[in-house]
Amino acid sequence: MRSLFSSAYFWMCLLSVVLLGPMAVYLGTQMGWPPGAALYILIAVPMCAAALSGQRFATLLVVLGAATVRWGESLHHGVQPADQFLFPFVGLCLLFLVGGFTAYVVDLLHARVEKLEVQNTNYVQQVFQLNRREQEADKPADEKVPVSENDEQTSPDPDETKADPTQGRSVDNAMLLLAIQDITRRISTHLDLDTLLPVIVNTARTSLKCGGCRILFWNSDVRKLAEVTPGANSSADHVPKPDRGMCGWVIEKRQALTRKDVEAEYALHSLKEQDPHMPDAIAPLAVGDELLGLLVIDDVEEDSPTFVRLLYILANNYALAIKNAQLFQRIEEMARRDGLTGLLNHASFQQELQELCEASASLSRPLTVVMSDVDHFKKFNDTYGHQAGDHVLREVAAMFQAVMPDHAVVARYGGEEFICALPGDDLDRGHELAELMRSNLEARTLDFDGQQLHVTASFGVTQFGKPAETAEDMVRIADEGLYMAKSQGRNQVVSNSLTESVKGSTSETINQPCK
Ligand code: GH3
Ligand code: MG
Ligand code: MG
Repeated sequence: MRSLFSSAYFWMCLLSVVLLGPMAVYLGTQMGWPPGAALYILIAVPMCAAALSGQRFATLLVVLGAATVRWGESLHHGVQPADQFLFPFVGLCLLFLVGGFTAYVVDLLHARVEKLEVQNTNYVQQVFQLNRREQEADKPADEKVPVSENDEQTSPDPDETKADPTQGRSVDNAMLLLAIQDITRRISTHLDLDTLLPVIVNTARTSLKCGGCRILFWNSDVRKLAEVTPGANSSADHVPKPDRGMCGWVIEKRQALTRKDVEAEYALHSLKEQDPHMPDAIAPLAVGDELLGLLVIDDVEEDSPTFVRLLYILANNYALAIKNAQLFQRIEEMARRDGLTGLLNHASFQQELQELCEASASLSRPLTVVMSDVDHFKKFNDTYGHQAGDHVLREVAAMFQAVMPDHAVVARYGGEEFICALPGDDLDRGHELAELMRSNLEARTLDFDGQQLHVTASFGVTQFGKPAETAEDMVRIADEGLYMAKSQGRNQVVSNSLTESVKGSTSETINQPCK
């Protein structure tokens, strides 16, 4: 690959001489410049580029090519035979000097960088070895790895520190990689925030060897942090202020920060004064430019050189997992809801009603369904337009949510039909609420684009077990009540009740209109 690059470079330089040479001769002649001036100006660029990239052969080639062109130029200008070689020779020497100097400076810089890299590697190895020795010293005597006599007695040899690149360090790295792999696998299997957050807290506590791990979600609109750590007491636990202390710094810089950094850096000392509850570390949970929250680490048991790196890697993985779970939750919610009104859609309502019927049957708890349909809505659309119709549907949905109690499950059943399940409420209560909704709608004037709009709706109400025994029955019987309300003049509520003798037969239900 390297030879291919070198050869590509070689041909590039050759091409630049072939193209730049005649161009320089032409330019020099046209501008009336002294012979050679244009050539050396143009040729200096590829030559310096070749010298800077350490391509000695290419540099030499450019220089020789330039000298040849310069000689040709002397002939072309009819320069004295003696000078025909003198000028190119002087130019050649000049180019050699500039090229050689550039190459020399580049070599010096390369050597310096290499030296720094070696020094850096040695420092990292020394820190690692020190840490390993400290860990060994902390272990109980029977767990300690026996240390050879030589190790104890010989004076520290500078080369010895370098000669330990694999022991301890490679084992730790392997463990670190395994831990990260395991954590990533565990968090990636959870798409639900309720199960993901405990996994995050547990894995962070184990891998970072800390007693405290908190997750705070960031709301950038109101610039507030919210405690979401599983089991945390949000009122009792201190939630850090987002505009001061370590928290403020991490939110602003989107970088992890440890207590040690704050104590060691004079410039960060003020953070401690701003927030006395300083944790051991805070890492941002960010995906791209979006800050999702903070990972707050406290009570770190042991100070390890891998702590910050691991914290950084974990925070990135956790942020991705949280983002995935949030997106998944949003998509699930969108699939459950109706786009126009935001209410539950037909399918999710059926599912909810099924569960409510089962609970009602097993707990002997009343359950009532109210179904409604906007009156003459087709005509309304034809008169005022579909946008006005959409506005009305949104308003009716909002009214349903306002009128019905909190425990009610309200949904858009279809076009201009709404349905509401009332667990714990009997037929009378259902009827009462439907009547309240009807009268509110009748009395309401809706404003759209300066137009004063007015609609009414008809309602059918039924209770589980009277006679409906399944979710399908409930919807069907409520629909029958609705049909009756329509046929009796609309803008009214019809409740289905049943005498004991005709239970189970919908045709024998007694519809009770009310207005
Ligand atoms: P009735 O009193 O018997 O219910 O008469 P109606 O005109 O309301 O009933 P019909 O079933 O004939 O018409 C329902 C209308 O509801 C037809 C359709 O244009 C309108 N509709 C259904 N969904 C939407 C919607 O999302 N937006 C708007 N603007 N209109 C809708
Ligand atoms: Mg309809
Ligand atoms: Mg209708």
